[in-house]
Amino acid sequence: MLPGLLDEIIGQEEEIFAWRRALHENPGLGFQETFAAEMVEQKLKEFGLDEVHTGIGGTGIVGVLRGNRPSNRAIGLRADMDALPIHEETGKPYASKVPGIMHACGHDGHTATLLAVAWRMAQARDFAGTVYFIFQPAEEGLGGALAMIEDGLFDRFPCDRLYAYHNAPGFDFGHVLTRPGRMMAGCSFFTIRVQGRGGHAGLPQTTVDAAQISSNIVVTAQSIVARNLNPNDAGIVSFTDVYAGTNSHNVIPDKAVLKGCLRYFEKPVGNLLKARLEEVAKGVALTYGGSAEIAFNDNFVPQINDPAATEIALKVAAETVGAERVNANIAPFTGSEDFAYMCELVPGNYVMIGAGPGAAPHHPAFDYNDEITSIAASYFCRLIQTELV
Ligand SMILES: [Zn+2]
Ligand SMILES: [Zn+2]
Repeated sequence: MLPGLLDEIIGQEEEIFAWRRALHENPGLGFQETFAAEMVEQKLKEFGLDEVHTGIGGTGIVGVLRGNRPSNRAIGLRADMDALPIHEETGKPYASKVPGIMHACGHDGHTATLLAVAWRMAQARDFAGTVYFIFQPAEEGLGGALAMIEDGLFDRFPCDRLYAYHNAPGFDFGHVLTRPGRMMAGCSFFTIRVQGRGGHAGLPQTTVDAAQISSNIVVTAQSIVARNLNPNDAGIVSFTDVYAGTNSHNVIPDKAVLKGCLRYFEKPVGNLLKARLEEVAKGVALTYGGSAEIAFNDNFVPQINDPAATEIALKVAAETVGAERVNANIAPFTGSEDFAYMCELVPGNYVMIGAGPGAAPHHPAFDYNDEITSIAASYFCRLIQTELV
């Protein structure tokens, strides 16, 4: 048995699970989370929060709760609300009612958890200062965090620290995993457009072959990590879409489009990967008589966990699940997290909570494990009580 779960949360579990399943049945893609936003607004008002602000950065919501003791300190807790463009294959009775869209990352569970925390803390208010419950839209690469920030999130609701969690299938159930410093990767999408000169496949000497240029760009780009990156740094160059041609066997294509992404934990590394990829794309194209253009879309900065916030997160996690279930130095994840933009402005911490065996996030058979909800909710409640004394 885990030592620090709150009885009130456990007693409320069936209702919290019902919230989660209602969210699961009614998913919305980024900035279209209308069901979730309406439900969050209604619940926060029902729980008696001091203020409920809607429409922040689109569908974002902030609930404000003041403790029963005065203090100028404030912390923010963040949950994400968006679903993914995946057709659900869980076969669950509460499966998505929207074809082609499902909660395949567990943001339904994150939202239900934060609601549970708001419910518990609004009843007791056993803390000093202010908690901002931040429900963000569009975590999955569409820029929901930035949208809220640009809409004045931290001007209107200034926080001293921020905390968030993600469910982690495949990791031991109930274990809390985090680390100070680099936690999740930054990510930059790229699109390379190659221009050659098309022609007859039997007369290659009259052409500039965009397919051949593209193939060489893919191969040469792999030398960036191998030859340009400091071996002590981490970086990834992945090509995910390579397109050229007209579905023929005898036409040399004049154009090609290559897409992919770069991952990194430090911005200078990201800048190096971008600069070298541009040189490789343009240089290779020039070598073979063609040209190339490249465009980047930086859609995630690295998630950097603040050391002091992480120390508190670790202490609270140990109280909640037992020190033997806390990993204070998990290897950094090469996935990305939109919360990172908020943590660029306010020191924060992000933990993973192990959900036990199950399909991986972004898989059509994925389902959030409700059993970790009391762990995550108790962890957040204890964080509030620890931070705001
Ligand atoms: Zn996801
Ligand atoms: Zn997620």
